[in-house]
Amino acid sequence: MPISEKSIQEVKDALDIVDVVSDYVDLKKNGNNWWGLCPFHQDNTPSFSVAPNKNFYHCFVCKASGDSIKFVQEIEGISYIESIRKLAQKFGVQIQETQVTPEEEKAQKHKESLHIVLKFAQEFFYDNLMNSEEGKSIGLSYFKERGFREGTIEEFGLGYTINDWHAFEKAALEKGYQAELLKEAGLIIQKEGGKQYDRFRGRVIFPIHDLSGRPIAFGARTLKKDEKPKYLNSPETPVYHKGQVLYGLFQAKNEIRQKDNCYLVEGYTDVITLYQAGIHNVVATSGTALTEGQIKLIKRFTENVTVLYDGDDAGIKASLRGTDLLLEQGLNVRAVRFPDGEDPDSYCRGLGGEKFQEYLEQNHQDFILFKTNLQLDEALNDPIKKAAVTREIVESISKIPDPIKQSFFYKECSSLLQIDEDILKEEGRKIAEQKIWKEEKRRTQGRRSWEPPIYDAPIPTQDPSSVPPPPPMDYPPQEAFMPPPEYMDIPTDEAPSVSPLPPIGKQEYKEPEFPSFVSGESINVPLEVQKANNERLFIAELEMIRVILEKGTEVDSQNISVLSHIIEDIGDAYFISPTLRDIFNTYKNEIIISKNIDIDFFKNHSDPLIRNACKDILKISPKASRNWLEKFKIFVPEKDEDLEQIVFKTIAHWKYVRQKYLFEQRQKDLMTSTDFEEQDQILKELAELKNQMTVLANDLGYNDIN
Ligand SMILES: [Zn+2]
Repeated sequence: MPISEKSIQEVKDALDIVDVVSDYVDLKKNGNNWWGLCPFHQDNTPSFSVAPNKNFYHCFVCKASGDSIKFVQEIEGISYIESIRKLAQKFGVQIQETQVTPEEEKAQKHKESLHIVLKFAQEFFYDNLMNSEEGKSIGLSYFKERGFREGTIEEFGLGYTINDWHAFEKAALEKGYQAELLKEAGLIIQKEGGKQYDRFRGRVIFPIHDLSGRPIAFGARTLKKDEKPKYLNSPETPVYHKGQVLYGLFQAKNEIRQKDNCYLVEGYTDVITLYQAGIHNVVATSGTALTEGQIKLIKRFTENVTVLYDGDDAGIKASLRGTDLLLEQGLNVRAVRFPDGEDPDSYCRGLGGEKFQEYLEQNHQDFILFKTNLQLDEALNDPIKKAAVTREIVESISKIPDPIKQSFFYKECSSLLQIDEDILKEEGRKIAEQKIWKEEKRRTQGRRSWEPPIYDAPIPTQDPSSVPPPPPMDYPPQEAFMPPPEYMDIPTDEAPSVSPLPPIGKQEYKEPEFPSFVSGESINVPLEVQKANNERLFIAELEMIRVILEKGTEVDSQNISVLSHIIEDIGDAYFISPTLRDIFNTYKNEIIISKNIDIDFFKNHSDPLIRNACKDILKISPKASRNWLEKFKIFVPEKDEDLEQIVFKTIAHWKYVRQKYLFEQRQKDLMTSTDFEEQDQILKELAELKNQMTVLANDLGYNDIN
C-alpha cells in the first residue's frame, strides 16, 4: 500500500539515527559522531560511524553508507516501504496511506488479523510445551533429547499441540477469535458436515517466521511411531506462500550478510542444531524443492550458498537437480557431504560446534566439481553412463551466467572426465541453444502461420540405456567419449548413406567436398557436429547462405534485392548450424545498418570464422552441389537459372526441409507422450505440417513428400 509523502517526511523528521542503529550495534560517542563494530562486514575494530546531525552512517572499511531508512532496509533485508513502516512504528508516527481502495484496506486489515491469530497460536503452542503435563513429558523431552536448550526453544518459538481434537479451537474461540479466521490461518479444519477440529494434534511445532520475525505458518512433527505424515505443515494462506519462505532466515539473515555465505540444509532440526552450535547463517527448505522465490530471498543477503547434503549417494543424486537452480540464478554454490548415515544435525551434535565448523571449512567443494566427482566412479568404465553423466554436468555448467566461471569449470571437468574441453563446450552450447529454442517456441506458441517460425528443440527423448552401445574401446583414450544421446538421433530421412553416428573425434565420417571451416576460433564447432544434427537441414541452410553470398545484392525487376526478399520471407528463423546462423545474422544486422553491402564485406570480415567460412562456402563446386542433390534429393540452384526462380526455390526448399525436421521431432514426441490430450494436439500439428509440406513439394516439383 502506498504511503503518503507527508508520512514519509514525518517519519524522517521523527527518527534519530543513533537510536535506530543502536538497536543493532553497540555505539560509543567520540567527538560529534558515534562509533561501533560494523554490522555489514566482519569487523574487529570499530570502523562504523554514525553522524546524528546528518542522519548518516558510514563504514570506513566496507564503505556501507546511507541514512536511517537504508540502514533498516539493509540490516533487515526489507524494502524501502517496509523500512519506513518499521521506523514509523518505532517512533510512533501514524502513517497515512494514499489512494487506498476499500478492497486494499480490507485485505490489509485481514492480513493483520491473520498475523494476530497466528501469533496467538504460536504463544499457545509454546505455553503447552513448557507448562502442560503432556507438553513437558512428550514435546519438551523430545526437544531436550535432541539437545535443544531452553533459550534456543524460546528463540525459535517451538511448541507442542495437545493430543486433542479441540484444545486449540476452544482456547482461540474463548479468546474471541472468529472460527472463520482460524480456518483461514490453517489452524482448524472444517469438514463438509460442519464439524471442525484442530489441524495439529499431538505434535511438536516449528513456527515458520517471515523476515520481520512474525509467525506465518507451522511445521508440525508427529512423535508417534507410525503416524503419517511425519511432518504436517500449514496450508498456503494469504500470509504464507511456501515457495517464498526459508525456514530460519529471520534468525539467520544478519549472520548470512556478515559471513557472506548461507548454509542450506533440509530440515528444521538441522537449522536449530547448527544455530545452537554457533553457526547462525543457516536456513532450510523444509523438505520441499528449492524455488526461485527462495533463492531471491537468499540473494538479498549473499551471493554464496553452501549446500549441506543429507544421506547417501542415492539421496544426494536425487537432490542435485534442485541445486542447479542456484547456479542459474548466478549464485556461487558449494557443497558438503557427511560420512554415511550422518546428516548435518546428527553430525554436528556428535562433533560439537567448533569441530563441525572446521569440518565444513575443510570439506566444502565447489558444486560442479562435487557433482562430477560424485558421479564419476560409476561412469568411468561405462561409456554410455559417462555420456549421460557428462551431459548432466555440462547442463549444470551451462546454467552459470558468468562466462569466465563457465570456462573455468569446463577446464576442470575436462580433466576430471578426461574429455576434450572443446567437446564439453560444444555440448554446453547446444544445451544453451535448446533453451533458446524452447523459449522461442513458448513465445510463439499458438501462432498459426503456414510456416512454423521455429524449430522444435531436439529434446533427447531416449533413455541413454536404449542407445546402442559403441564399439568396444579401451578406456581412457579421448575418442571413447560417446556423444550424448541426441547426437545419435539423426533422423534417418531417406538418406540411407548417412552413417548412424560419427563418434566425435573419429575420422571415418568424412565428406571431402565439404568446406572445412576454421578451427581453433571462438566458435569452434566441428562441422560433423553441426551436420550430424540434421544433415539435410544443414545443407539447406548452407545453400541459403551460398545464395545470399553469391546473389544477395542482385536486384529483381522491382529493384528489390535477393537478400531483402530472403530476410523478409524467413525473418528471424533460427538456423541449426551455429556458424551459418552467425553469418546470416551478421548479414542481417549489417544490412540494417548500412543498407548496402557487397560480397567483399565478408571476404574481408574481421572475424576469421566468418571470413573463412564464407570463403569456403563460395568455393563449393557445382559438382559438389550436384552430389548433394542426388544424395538428398535436394534442390540446388544452377548457375544459370533465373534469379527469381533461384530465390524462390532456395527458400521453399529450406522451408520444406525445416518442416520435415519439425515433423520428425513431433513424431518422436508422439511416441513418448503418455498424455491423451497432448497426443491429440501433436496429431493435429502433424496433420497441418503434412499439408504444408505437400503444398511446398508441389511448388518445388517434388514427386511426393520425401
Ligand atoms: Zn563495514
